[in-house]
Amino acid sequence: MSLRFDPLQRFACASCARCCRGHEIAVTAGEVETLRAARAERFFRESADAAEGAAADPFVAVPAGRGLHVIRRRADGSCGFLSAENRCRLHEALGAKQKPLTCRMFPFVLRPGTGSGAVLVASHACPSVTRGEGPRLGDQARELGRLARDWEREHAPKPGPLELAPGRALAPTAAEALRTALRSMLGEAELRVALARIARHLGDLGRWRALRLADDRRSEYVVLTSSYRAGPKPPPAAAQRPGLVSRLLFRGFLFTVLALRERRANAPGWDQRLRLLVLLLHAHGLFPGVAGVRLGAARGVRVTDDAQVVALVKGFLQQAVEATGGGRRSLQGELAVAAAQVQAALRLARMRAGLDGRREARLEDVREGVIAAADLDQLDHGLAARLLTLFAGPPDDAFDRLAAELR
Ligand code: SF4
Repeated sequence: MSLRFDPLQRFACASCARCCRGHEIAVTAGEVETLRAARAERFFRESADAAEGAAADPFVAVPAGRGLHVIRRRADGSCGFLSAENRCRLHEALGAKQKPLTCRMFPFVLRPGTGSGAVLVASHACPSVTRGEGPRLGDQARELGRLARDWEREHAPKPGPLELAPGRALAPTAAEALRTALRSMLGEAELRVALARIARHLGDLGRWRALRLADDRRSEYVVLTSSYRAGPKPPPAAAQRPGLVSRLLFRGFLFTVLALRERRANAPGWDQRLRLLVLLLHAHGLFPGVAGVRLGAARGVRVTDDAQVVALVKGFLQQAVEATGGGRRSLQGELAVAAAQVQAALRLARMRAGLDGRREARLEDVREGVIAAADLDQLDHGLAARLLTLFAGPPDDAFDRLAAELR
């Protein structure tokens, strides 16, 4: 199995247990059987301070999930097998190999890839990945290969259609030409220039005159324009002011990030539903805000141009470029969602600084924003994924909005 990943990215689990809270943890039928045979329910706790032992089955079948289960979560949203010391009781009591593959896999996600091998993506929802802590992935290639093979054997993920935009097929060589062009554009020294160049290229590819072409002609067009725009003398590009509709759609995107953050921070119930409603109104400018969330505080706050922030933003986008073609969304959709995620991260960073009385968002603010926005990676199928693509807007708008966020 050919596997691509960024060898310079870093990761070492810091046992912060962020991934054990607020996530659904999927368990296969085989794993449930093994864990039941090992009487895993002994290590379950109904709340953080309850005695060990489950009051009901710790594994809940997913409706129409063909044997798939999830681990029952506590009222505060954390995994029932999480100890008070932030450790996994299955790992402690039964050994690392008995942990569900979903848990062993995190923060990595395997995207099957089309024509260019599978891609292993490290989720920025893990603070260690976002902070660049631990050994380089290039030095963990053997373990990562093993994990990817286990995942493939268990779940056999199938690549979806390779499309430039929904219903507009693209040849693998054209997808690779586009990726090569985007890599070169991201290599531009100045981030805003890089974003403007990407926006103009994606805008051109999204025009009707390119989309309406027959599949082979469209692929040819993508190859030709990608090599021209990434060439030694690329046409000058300037960021454009994002349109009103695109800015309105982005409010829906921002609300989704805030909603996931709220669900992670507070236990489900009526209080949470009320806070979500208030957040929805606030994100659309119809309510002054709630504790810790006042989007207006971002006004007048700029993002530092610190080299580490630039590297973090470029790294996030670079990873999205590499993962395009995995069939989750069209290439245009995948890139638009990634740009909107970074924009949401920067907006949260600016808000955090503003609430703190600062006029500049620092590296730590941006990291916190990126970690929160990366939680959207969970919403990668069904209606939620389609809504995110809609809220992200067209890819050129998403990159223009992101460039504007950096002002
Ligand atoms: S979020 Fe990352 S660092 Fe924290 S426990 Fe999970 S894998 Fe480890």
